[in-house]
Amino acid sequence: RTRINILNVPIDVVTMKEALTVIEGFIADKSSSHLVATANAEMVMMAQSDKELANILRQADLVVPDGAGIVWAARYHGYKMPERVAGFDLAQAILARAATTGYRIFLLGGAPGIAARAKAVAESRYPGVNIVGTYHGFFQAADEAALLADIRARRPDVIFVALGVPKQEKWLWQHRKELSVPVAIGVGGTFDVMAG
Ligand code: UDP
Repeated sequence: RTRINILNVPIDVVTMKEALTVIEGFIADKSSSHLVATANAEMVMMAQSDKELANILRQADLVVPDGAGIVWAARYHGYKMPERVAGFDLAQAILARAATTGYRIFLLGGAPGIAARAKAVAESRYPGVNIVGTYHGFFQAADEAALLADIRARRPDVIFVALGVPKQEKWLWQHRKELSVPVAIGVGGTFDVMAG
């Protein structure tokens, strides 16, 4: 895989199909948790002043080129960047794949009720998809230990986390060991769009 840098943020040169293959490799390698980030211009700009975010992105296992600005900047610097890999589309591709493979999926984030609605939408759109749990994204610090234990007990292969950038990346990075979910992806407003 080729990894380029845009303003010191690493971006992997991958198509949607390649990103899905990499993610399926992470799922097969159950031994560790992999962070997947979807980079757009806003995230790259935020990382210029937010050192914690910048550090996390440098250690992420896969950073896909979400956003036309990223694709443009990569091409401007002379790199091949075949297409945008939008977070929403990547999430749909994983859910579609999960419907045939049986991957266990957890949805965390959004206002109360949104992740549950997104689960129902996913179940009708991708028959057979195994969504093993959902939880909203406005939990209190006091509830966090129970939430982490619940997620772990449901043994997801993939957790989608919609807490907004950079909260979702920071939360996933901070709790990656306790979660021990093979693939963790920050998906921003994806559940809101799915819920309609
Ligand atoms: N959100 C959340 N908890 C928070 C803050 C935000 O669950 O403490 C959710 C919010 O309800 C929305 C998502 O995070 O569903 C952020 O969506 P947005 O499109 O703003 O994401 P971004 O542009 O940051 O990727």
